[in-house]
Amino acid sequence: MSSLELIRSSAREFAEKVLGPIAKKIDEENFVSEDVRKEVANMGYFALRVPEEYGGPGLSLLESVVVAEELSRVSSGVGIMATVSGSMVPPPLIFFAKKEIKEEYLEKLAKGGIGAFGLTEPCCGTDAAAITTRAELRNGEWVISGRKTFITNSYYADFFLVAARTGRPEDRHRGISLFVVDRDRSCMEISKLDMMGYRGSGTSEILFNECKVPSQNIIGPVNGGFKIVMDALNEGRIVTASTGLGVMQAAFEEAFEYAKKRESMGKPLTEHQMIMSMIAEMKVRLEAVRSLIYKAAEKVDRGDPDYPMWSSIAKLAAARWGVDLVRLAMQVVGGFGYSRESKIERLYRDIKMIEIGDGTNQAQEIVIVRSLLGKIRPPRIT
Ligand SMILES: Cc1cc2nc3c(=O)[nH]c(=O)nc-3n(C[C@H](O)[C@H](O)[C@H](O)COP(=O)(O)OP(=O)(O)OC[C@H]3O[C@@H](n4cnc5c(N)ncnc54)[C@H](O)[C@@H]3O)c2cc1C
Repeated sequence: MSSLELIRSSAREFAEKVLGPIAKKIDEENFVSEDVRKEVANMGYFALRVPEEYGGPGLSLLESVVVAEELSRVSSGVGIMATVSGSMVPPPLIFFAKKEIKEEYLEKLAKGGIGAFGLTEPCCGTDAAAITTRAELRNGEWVISGRKTFITNSYYADFFLVAARTGRPEDRHRGISLFVVDRDRSCMEISKLDMMGYRGSGTSEILFNECKVPSQNIIGPVNGGFKIVMDALNEGRIVTASTGLGVMQAAFEEAFEYAKKRESMGKPLTEHQMIMSMIAEMKVRLEAVRSLIYKAAEKVDRGDPDYPMWSSIAKLAAARWGVDLVRLAMQVVGGFGYSRESKIERLYRDIKMIEIGDGTNQAQEIVIVRSLLGKIRPPRIT
């Protein structure tokens, strides 16, 4: 067995054994218990990309994609938690943070800490260059105030990467810096949101009220954070897409198994040509998305400069074809698929997230065309 297949089989075993029995409960209660979070941490899944020298598993992006896919096949909520903390938070620390900060926070993740990534605000998601959360340097400390929303993991997180304005509003993306901020109840209000899918992932709104952060906690140069954020999103989109791939795989399996057993007009659904057509269509979409995601992840691992475009291609494919696939899966399962008893109903709510989170479909289209025009190059390479 290759090392990739070993990583896959251990993630699958963990997901089926630990998450399988509680996946429905996680969705219903919109909560992952501390015990389960500890089990996920013990597997190293909140630190997927943290290099071994800092105590992490040091997985490649392709390997962490496979873990996210397997966890999300069983529980998308836990899959996205691992993805954000383990794959999206480490790269800005690895490539752009000062040595002491890099060590401190990568080691925190390796010891089971959970990280979150705070960019979106009530005012602005797609237009991230318009964010209004402010960071001011006062007496040698950064003081951060503002509101972030839809931040995955933030209900449980030990620390946050926070994008904040350090320049003038009219400077747009040239006036934004990135900070690492410890959880601090005295200056933060964190309110969990009741989202439609990917439930349990601790997606919350955060109010920062004059949070004081040591001056060295800035990642990259003052006013130079936007490129780092975009670079993290380039990588993050691939892993977010892979959580969608896990949801697609689960929906395909549910529909196919159901169609083999369910009979209509004296024969199984799999013997009816119109159902065969839907199953074939689902399989094609599933494998196309898998190939695109793996290709994009390999491009990041190799350092190919066109990985931002491939990341957006993979994310857009997972979003559009994922929504199509789960719709077909529900059609195959019929009335039962529409009932709360069925897993397909949860998967149907989950998959829509891929069209929105980590940049909407429209945002991916913008990245693809800007890349074709030669306007996007990843900052860690150029
Ligand atoms: C479950 C979930 C988890 C999330 N987790 C995180 C997280 O961990 N961290 C984080 O920072 N954010 C997170 N987000 C936020 C997510 O990234 C944003 O919701 C997303 O970027 C869209 O921003 P918005 O919601 O403000 O929509 P808007 O930007 O207001 O967009 C509304 C609509 O207008 C379209 N639109 C907007 N601008 C343009 C344009 N210029 N051209 C064409 N169309 C446009 C959009 O495509 C969309 O269809 C999460 C969201 C969800 C749903």
